[in-house]
Amino acid sequence: MKRQELMVAAIKNGTVIDHIPSNKLFQVVRLLHLEDKNVESEVMIGYNLPSKKMGNKSIIKISEKFFTDAELNVLSVVAPNVTLCVIRDYEVVEKKRVTLPQEIIGIVKCGNPKCITNNEPMSTHFHVTDSKHGIIQCKYCEKEQKLDTIKLV
Ligand SMILES: [Zn+2]
Repeated sequence: MKRQELMVAAIKNGTVIDHIPSNKLFQVVRLLHLEDKNVESEVMIGYNLPSKKMGNKSIIKISEKFFTDAELNVLSVVAPNVTLCVIRDYEVVEKKRVTLPQEIIGIVKCGNPKCITNNEPMSTHFHVTDSKHGIIQCKYCEKEQKLDTIKLV
């Protein structure tokens, strides 16, 4: 393990989410539901750490917690370039990247104030129309949005 990664204490088993843009950290925390009352894992957060690649970055380490690919892929909506490490007995046993799902349900707010999803108690639903440029389209009002400007619900 590189010295840089030790700036936040190592975990024995769990998931490390690295290379989070610092301004997206709190959205990532929210998307992983780490602030829910029933979270029992120990969570360590390193905010605004120096990074050669990114200038600065943030990192989250979640003890004794393993996510499904679907849970992790949701992160691509706000932080497409994060890297994920699965840790078992202090060793990285798996490294992965997140990929943008084709459908994004209940996560992103529609930018159209007249959209039914902003006026009725219902989940938003977007299709990804251009994954390369991060363009998503509302299923209900067809408004397109760029992922780097979206707001979470
Ligand atoms: Zn809409």
